[in-house]
Amino acid sequence: MITLAALSVAYADGRRALDDLDLSIAPGERVALIGPSGAGKTTLLRVIGASLRPTAGQLQLDGVDPWALGSGPLQALRARIGKMHQAPPIPPRQRVITAVLAGRLGQWPLWRAVASLVYPLDIAGTRAVLEPLGLAERLFDRCDQLSGGQLQRVALARLFYQKPEIVLADEPVSALDPALARSVAVALNEDAKRRDVTLIASLHAVDLALSEFSRVIGLREGRIVFDRPAAQVLTADIDALYAGASHAAAHDTPDQHVPSAKPRLTRCA
Ligand code: ADP
Ligand code: MG
Repeated sequence: MITLAALSVAYADGRRALDDLDLSIAPGERVALIGPSGAGKTTLLRVIGASLRPTAGQLQLDGVDPWALGSGPLQALRARIGKMHQAPPIPPRQRVITAVLAGRLGQWPLWRAVASLVYPLDIAGTRAVLEPLGLAERLFDRCDQLSGGQLQRVALARLFYQKPEIVLADEPVSALDPALARSVAVALNEDAKRRDVTLIASLHAVDLALSEFSRVIGLREGRIVFDRPAAQVLTADIDALYAGASHAAAHDTPDQHVPSAKPRLTRCA
């Protein structure tokens, strides 16, 4: 269980990126975070991933406050969380197999992690996760020889190899064309369903949020605007969430893949 109680995050300028949030997410829920740029989606994912310490309030993961742990247990807890981003942070000269093996670096003892960087230790296991993603042939290729879509599937393979208890994906499909975006969103959801783990993903594609996820949270200016089962989200909810938000990205990092804060909405309950 992920629990946030009266949780706020203020960055250096004092403005609150997250404002007094109360939120519980049960194991096995598949949550889509939507909202205009600057709403606080990335900040929320970083807080839940125990990468960013809240300024006020509390986060608990299975009843444990990560920030009350020593650095060893905190690292161990982070190793149980899988992360995915819009552009996978994979060193370009790294081989596909090494990138996938990196999924378990945090779980392995140091000797094994170092050895796996020198010589890939689990070729069969890596091939097994790459096969269904259509990348088995690319096992020993360098990542800089792959397209953006293939790279994002390597990031998926790394997650599937890691088998994390919580998957946090920050705009995992924003850089992909619509067909690829859907297939990656479906693959993330299928994996979470099959392993019965929690998935939380921020998305600009509202249609994918509604069609693939079980629960949708609308975030705006650091607050929850709505929080419902996907099937109960109304067109009016979406309209209100994004209303007048096309210029809300003033202090957001420019994002070449999402030219405006307007959602891509092709279907709505
Ligand atoms: P989203 O992912 O929904 O676009 P973010 O979580 O990135 O939103 O940002 C929420 C707010 O926090 C925005 O106003 C943004 O400008 C601000 N912010 C995000 N990261 C930082 C940072 N490192 N330093 C200062 N302000 C930040
Ligand atoms: Mg973001």
